Amino acid sequence: MKKTLSVFLAAALAFGMMACSNANTTTPATEAPATEAASAEEVTTEEVTAEAADAETEKAAEVGEGGSEDNEVGEEVSAESSDDAVVITGAGVKTAGTLVMSTNAEFPPYEYHDSATDTGIGDFAGIDVEIAKAIAEKMGCELKIEDIAFDSIVPQVNSGMADMGMAGMTVTEDRKKNVDFSDTYAISRQVIVVKEDSEFVGVEDLAGKRIGVQQGTTGDILASGDKNISEGVERYNKAMEAIQSLSQGMVDAVIVDIEPAKVFVSEVTGLKILDQEYTLEEYAICVKKGNTELLDNINAALAVLKADGTLDAIVDKYINAK
Ligand code: GLN
Repeated sequence: MKKTLSVFLAAALAFGMMACSNANTTTPATEAPATEAASAEEVTTEEVTAEAADAETEKAAEVGEGGSEDNEVGEEVSAESSDDAVVITGAGVKTAGTLVMSTNAEFPPYEYHDSATDTGIGDFAGIDVEIAKAIAEKMGCELKIEDIAFDSIVPQVNSGMADMGMAGMTVTEDRKKNVDFSDTYAISRQVIVVKEDSEFVGVEDLAGKRIGVQQGTTGDILASGDKNISEGVERYNKAMEAIQSLSQGMVDAVIVDIEPAKVFVSEVTGLKILDQEYTLEEYAICVKKGNTELLDNINAALAVLKADGTLDAIVDKYINAK
């Protein structure tokens, strides 16, 4: 813990000069970020198999407590303050005073357009939007959102055009080659959505069938990497387009993240989510490789937001309360 704090303090001192306009928020220290248990065995989406899911699920139960059944923010962190202080600065952003987030706002309840929910960031709403806004506030920055195609997020962050990518993005070994990931802030899993009258039970029923996925997502990676089903994969720009295709009978199943799946199934009649545990994944924020100033600030802000209950409150607002 002391070491972690020293790193934050050193980063704060070293980069304080470049901080966002009104930064240097001093916040109570917390226990180490809540995701240590999770990150010790990071989910390698490419390696996750349906068989592995059961064992992984147990791990999820350990990691996430206090969240919803299927999507949980990392384990509780003691909110007790101590004498130590974590200094969060606005260091590491490209333009001082602004934290630019790339996302794909087609992924409820994490990021979507909804003018009825006032988040103070245009018509953007969702868990990621509100967490990002809270992180920006801790950093003394204003949050700016770039809404782009999901598979453009990593390249945009990698090229430095955006400071961070946050889009219900699963940590994968492949993505880690191009960007660095923050501590985990949510646990998720892929599920299979089918028509209500379908007799499919799980992934074993997908062989030789047409499967809708969102281009470049872990659903796409999973389906494309499975030789029994890869030939039938149909890629869409938005998960909702895949869902609509399913509803119209143009594909037989859709592989998508659990919480968006629940939203889509509630909006489009005649669909259901299979119970089978498919994969377990972790969501994190990505930054340009080597941007440790920003990563340290994001992780420090996340730790504080976990400890003081902000993260749970945001998840409750969008998931648990419904
Ligand atoms: N979690 C999935 C992934 O990282 C899907 C994310 C999304 O579509 N926004 O690929």
